[in-house]
Amino acid sequence: MYYCPECGLVFDEPMSYREIVTSDPYPMGFNTSVCPSCKSDEFVIAVQCDGCGEYIVGEYVKLHNKECYCEDCYEICDTSDM
Ligand SMILES: [Zn+2]
Ligand SMILES: [Zn+2]
Repeated sequence: MYYCPECGLVFDEPMSYREIVTSDPYPMGFNTSVCPSCKSDEFVIAVQCDGCGEYIVGEYVKLHNKECYCEDCYEICDTSDM
């Protein structure tokens, strides 16, 4: 899962984008991975929260059963506070 901070799009696979240099008579170009919406290559890996469904970029909690939770969906508790 990827998240593009430029346009806010979340996508599974980055789009392969070939830059074609039109002034080159034999355009080899090269493939870069870009956001499918805005063609930005500034996208980052994101994880979907199993609690609220929001996309997480940065720190998150992962359970041993592979569920992931964003910081809005968990709270560190202590029985001595009860
Ligand atoms: Zn984008
Ligand atoms: Zn959440």
